[in-house]
This record gives sequence, structure tokens and C-alpha cells, in this order.
Amino acid sequence: MKSVNICVVGTGYVGLVTGACLASVGHRVVCVDSDKSKIALLKKGKMPIYEPGLEEVVSRAVKAKKLFFSTSIPDAINHQGHRVEAVFIAVGTPPRSDGSADLSFVEKVAEQVAEHMTGYTVIAEKSTVPVETGEWVHKTVTRFAAPGVEFDIVSNPEFLREGSAVGDFLHPDRVVVGTNSKRAAELMKLIYAPLKCPILITDVKSSELIKHASNSFLAAKISFINAVANICERTGANVEDVAKGMGMDKRIGASFLKAGIGFGGFCFPKDLEAFYWISRQKGYDFDMLRAVKEINEDQKRWVVRRAEEELWNLGGKTVALLGLAFKPETDDMRFAPSIDIVAALKERGAKIKVYDPVAMPNARKLLGGVTFCKNAQECMKDADCLVIVTEWAEFKNLDLEKVRALLRHPIVVDGRNIFEPARMRALGFAYKSVGRQ
Ligand code: NAD
Repeated sequence: MKSVNICVVGTGYVGLVTGACLASVGHRVVCVDSDKSKIALLKKGKMPIYEPGLEEVVSRAVKAKKLFFSTSIPDAINHQGHRVEAVFIAVGTPPRSDGSADLSFVEKVAEQVAEHMTGYTVIAEKSTVPVETGEWVHKTVTRFAAPGVEFDIVSNPEFLREGSAVGDFLHPDRVVVGTNSKRAAELMKLIYAPLKCPILITDVKSSELIKHASNSFLAAKISFINAVANICERTGANVEDVAKGMGMDKRIGASFLKAGIGFGGFCFPKDLEAFYWISRQKGYDFDMLRAVKEINEDQKRWVVRRAEEELWNLGGKTVALLGLAFKPETDDMRFAPSIDIVAALKERGAKIKVYDPVAMPNARKLLGGVTFCKNAQECMKDADCLVIVTEWAEFKNLDLEKVRALLRHPIVVDGRNIFEPARMRALGFAYKSVGRQ
């Protein structure tokens, strides 16, 4: 296998996993981040994020002298005498207030890479970017590159999921490469060859659209089943059986049909918004995406509605929230449903206690006016109602007799359907779950 010299700019959830995994399959990778504290931590062998299995991959690659860290793009591009052949841009593309993606970080990196590259370089968009971003990156690099230095722009969207990012990166369903250059396609194929997975080569715009369309479709699947759950609640049907029956149809598939209190995280909400924004920019109203978002927003209010059904007025009552991260096995709090749920409960004057196995440090930066507890037991103690927000295994395995004894009233609002309704009732709980009786 030929080892390729790679630079990954942005050492976050995507960049660090990308860099470490590409190094683990034999490439020489320099990960760059402008956040000095992040790079300092990594140089000490510490992880700036929680991601299962990542520390081992990073530490092995560092020991093998395949993975390096830097705070400087010029240093990384010509690192210790190794000229980089491919640069992956993996910086954030956060939403602006109108829903469009803020691409200023991508632009800044493109400028710096262009200024310092000294020979043919493939510049790959790893960040999730709107269709036609490739054209802007091309214009920017052309403007800043030294005369005669050749380059190609590639779109290479990432589909990993936080919580299983390493496995997702190393064993993807497919790798998508969007490029109009044969030379760039060959280099990308070389980089991904060790993964032994299907590689779809397409043009830049189609590749950019694949990412937004995929995430919007998955978000739509979640909102669809949540809407079905609402019908189940009103008719006495069971959403889990409905989802099972639907999922057995190969045309539909069983994944992403789990009813709950909605999606969050740094991908679905912002990518859905950005895709909707682009559609309107281009003169087409992709209205279905607005409905997907609205169903998701309403689903977060489900918690308050169900708690009120049991507790009447929430003012002065104590609500215990178990789980804050947007999904289990991550510390990521960006756009987590817990943020809106806390806000809605606060608006009604509830006292809120919270606990999450790993997201507490990030949650402290975002949530004010709540009591942070050191474990699940402290969180539940003397609460008027327990709400399950994130389906961590730790909560699935709670001793329910102890839970009942800890709570002031045996009321459980289960936003992730982690307990069995019949068992909960037999144990004497007033139990509310999504789309089940
Ligand atoms: P992140 O915030 O964890 O990481 C981005 C990093 O880029 C930060 O560490 C930041 O300091 C760094 N950065 C910003 N500007 C820089 C610059 N000029 N030079 C060097 N470093 C710079 O974000 P993330 O979750 O890794 O997401 C990155 C991109 O990947 C986004 O476009 C996101 O939509 C996409 N994506 C994310 C996921 C996910 O699960 N998080 C999955 C697929 C795609």
C-alpha cells in the first residue's frame, strides 16, 4: 500500500477521527487545529472529546509515527520535510440565524492552504457544506495560490456517527468522492483503498448534495416515526410494533424508525436547515423539510405535556433529567434536545436536576439554573418526576425498585422508550412513553 502524506485541518469530532483512522491504515497524517489547548492536550496523549475507542487509535498511530499534531497550517503542509499531497478541511460549518451555513472557517482554511502549498495538492471538503461550495473554494484557492502550483478540489463528505465514529469511519457503507479530475480521483482512491469499501466517484456538486440529502432523509425518517407515534398515542396502537412491521419491508428498512423526543446534535438540525435554505435560494420550496423540523420541535415539547398530565402545574416541582448529550456514547451537547427541554421546564417554573455520564462538563457551559448531580441516584432523589432524555445503557440498567424508592412520586416520563410499559405499571409507576400505551 502506498502511504499518502495527508493534512487534516480541524481536529474536532470529524477531523480527529479522520486523521487518526487514516494514520491507523498507514498514511502519514498531520492534524491541525487553531485551538491551541486542543492540540496541547493531544500532544500529551489526552483526548479533547469523548469518543469510544478513539484514544487507542490515536495513541497507536502516534507511537507508529504516523500521526502528528500542529497548530499551524504552513507547518503541517510541509511537515518535517514531508510535503502534503491531500488536505482535508474538517472545520465547523455552523448555522447562521437565517439557517444558512456559515462557511467562513472553510474559506479561511482554503486561503491558508493555498498560500502555503508548494506542489500539486488535493483539497478535500470533509466538512458538511452546501452545494456549490466547491466552486467558492476553487475560486479562493486560485486567488491565493502561487502561480503554477496545481490543485484540485474534491468533495468527500463524512457519514460517521458520534458514539461509533471510529468503526463508522473504518467500515463505511460507502465513501463518496466528488471531483471533476481523474488525477484527484486516483489519489482519493489510494487514500481509501485500505478500507476496502465501495467508493462512489461523482462530480463535486452531486457529492455535496449527497450529504445534505442523506442527512435530511434520515431526519425525515425520525420525524415520520415520531408523527406516527403521535397517532399511536391517540388511538391505542403501539409504535414499536408499527415500526417493526414497517421496517420488515426491505424498501423501508428497520433503521431510524425509533420513536422518541426528537433528533439533535451538530448534524441533523443544521443540515436540514441549510438544505431547506438552499432550496429556497435556488427558487424551489422544499417544504417537506420544514415539516420535518416542525415535528421535531414539537416532539421536544412532548416531555412537558406528559409531565403536566401527571403533575398538573410544574411550578415549584422538581423534575429529574437523566441524560443531556444528544445521544448516548458522546459528550456532544450541540443542539441536544435536553437544551430545549430544560428551557421549557424552566419557563413553567420547575426545579430541574440533571445528570449525564459524560456530557456534564459541556452541559455546564450551556445550561444555567439547573442543579448538576454527581450521579443518577442523587439526581432522582426526592424528585416529583423522572424524565429519560438520553438512552445511556447506565439508565436502561437502573434498579427500578430503587428508582421508585428515590422519587417523591413514582412518575416516569420516558422520552426514549427504554423501559417496558407493563413492567413499569406492575411496579406501580405512572409511566409515559412515546407512542406506546
Ligand atoms: P468540531 O467543532 O468538533 O471541530 C471543528 C474544529 O475545527 C474545531 O476544533 C475548531 O477549533 C477547528 N477550526 C476552526 N477553524 C479553524 C482554522 N481556521 N484552522 C484550524 N482549525 C480550525 O466540529 P465537527 O463536529 O468535527 O464537525 C466538522 C464538520 O464535519 C462540520 O461541517 C459538520 O457538519 C461535519 N460533520 C460532523 C459530524 C459529527 O458527527 N460531528 C459528522 C459528519 C459531518
